[in-house]
Amino acid sequence: MASRAFIFDLDGTVYRGGAAIPGASRFLNRLIRDGVPFVFVTNRANRTSAEVADQLIKLGIPCTEHMVLTSAQATAAYLGGVKAYLIGGKGVEQALASVVVGDFLMTDILAAHNAQMSSVLILTGVSKREDIASAPCSPTWIVEDYSELETVVYPGPNGR
Ligand SMILES: [Mg+2]
Repeated sequence: MASRAFIFDLDGTVYRGGAAIPGASRFLNRLIRDGVPFVFVTNRANRTSAEVADQLIKLGIPCTEHMVLTSAQATAAYLGGVKAYLIGGKGVEQALASVVVGDFLMTDILAAHNAQMSSVLILTGVSKREDIASAPCSPTWIVEDYSELETVVYPGPNGR
């Protein structure tokens, strides 16, 4: 899964209960170092991108307000809007195959499926491994945590 763009769900994926998910900051900093574009999406309409970015920075998550898409901005069907943003966005010059990373089968993974995008279910939030069998669609990858996500994104003997 090399050189893709990533779309991260926030609650349960990047933070939970006021704390960053372990490994999230390290992984996201690695993406930045490698020039891999990513954005955050939230379906909470009551906060601005700047407010969300401030919260993430306080948790040690690398972020600017331009990397946060709220549902108010992604007016097209959730990920459809994000996909257009990523492909058209700054620093993304070719059409990249975007990968959704999320913790909830019924929103994140289903939306990715409907948008014909690849997805990673990260088991740090709502959905559990045993939920997959009864879900309407399956994620492309399933990982326990950021450590496992890193091995999926950077396969090979040197972690690249
Ligand atoms: Mg979530």
